[in-house]
Amino acid sequence: MKAAVLEALGKITVKDVPDAEPAPGEVKLRVRACAVCGSDVRIYRHGNPRVHPPAIIGHEVAGDVIAVGSGVEKFNEGDRVALGADVPCGKCHWCQNGLCNNCYENYAIGYQFPGGFAEEMILDPLVVDLGPVTPIPEGVSYEQAALAEPLACAINGLEMCRLSVGDTLCIIGTGPLGCMMIELGRHMGATEVIAIQRSKKRLELARAFGADHYVCSGDTNPVEAVREITDGLGPDVVVTTCGSVEAHEQAIEMVAKRGRVNLFGGLGKGARNLNVPSNTIHYKECCVLGSHGSVPRHHRIAMAMIEKGIVDVARCITHRFPLDEIQAAFDAAEKHEGLKVLVKP
Ligand SMILES: [Zn+2]
Ligand SMILES: [Zn+2]
Repeated sequence: MKAAVLEALGKITVKDVPDAEPAPGEVKLRVRACAVCGSDVRIYRHGNPRVHPPAIIGHEVAGDVIAVGSGVEKFNEGDRVALGADVPCGKCHWCQNGLCNNCYENYAIGYQFPGGFAEEMILDPLVVDLGPVTPIPEGVSYEQAALAEPLACAINGLEMCRLSVGDTLCIIGTGPLGCMMIELGRHMGATEVIAIQRSKKRLELARAFGADHYVCSGDTNPVEAVREITDGLGPDVVVTTCGSVEAHEQAIEMVAKRGRVNLFGGLGKGARNLNVPSNTIHYKECCVLGSHGSVPRHHRIAMAMIEKGIVDVARCITHRFPLDEIQAAFDAAEKHEGLKVLVKP
């Protein structure tokens, strides 16, 4: 079968790799769609301690079960399924409490387990038993289903900041995750949604997602702009869906008293520390938290939201490439040319 193999930093080659049959407990998938995640681009550029080239990455996957190993009862040949990223080890404190994204082993598809930038993939027995493998409902396409993974992360992120009815929500960074959060936040009850983005091009793309206010932080001071929009109160919830420490600082600066800030977007290696007076948090009585990844429960909720049309993930897809053109797919994702980039092996 053909696979895109990450051979070294910045080097990904599409080539034939040995075909495998599923061992006992394993499942074999024919990949139909695998979306490029920001973390895939980071692995490709900077590596990751959990990825050892040559490796196949990609964790936003949808496909068909084409063979099952002996002893597998949960899935059958012909099932359409989508995968999430974080896989529970099943043994540690966090996994036993349904919080596998905090697992010490930190297993994930496209990291320790081979990923979806390939025609086929074998699911490890751990993935089959405990992992985020969600059946794709009728009427949901492979493309939509692949995006249940990022949507699951968005759900975890907004759930953690206890977004509730009547809140003002501010999203800093309108990449695919930010755009999904505009829509998701609206459905969770936010009555006012503010979207902030530095590049004009991405801000324009985000206009389709129906925030109430769009602020270009390349042109204006976002903290002042948001203060004006909220009559000096600040938003109840601010989520940073970008990898910028300045955005983290602005989020804490702009959030309302008693508000919640989620530092959702991870920072690159070598990023400086936050420079915020502790008293800002103290006197605001605000909550500053973080969130990363998701658990299988979020993946199931994401799929249900896609099925019911609550979040229109397909609207995020701006680019599609065959597996042979994975280099172009990564280039498009890295240059932020659009929103979500899909590879269709
Ligand atoms: Zn992802
Ligand atoms: Zn664990």
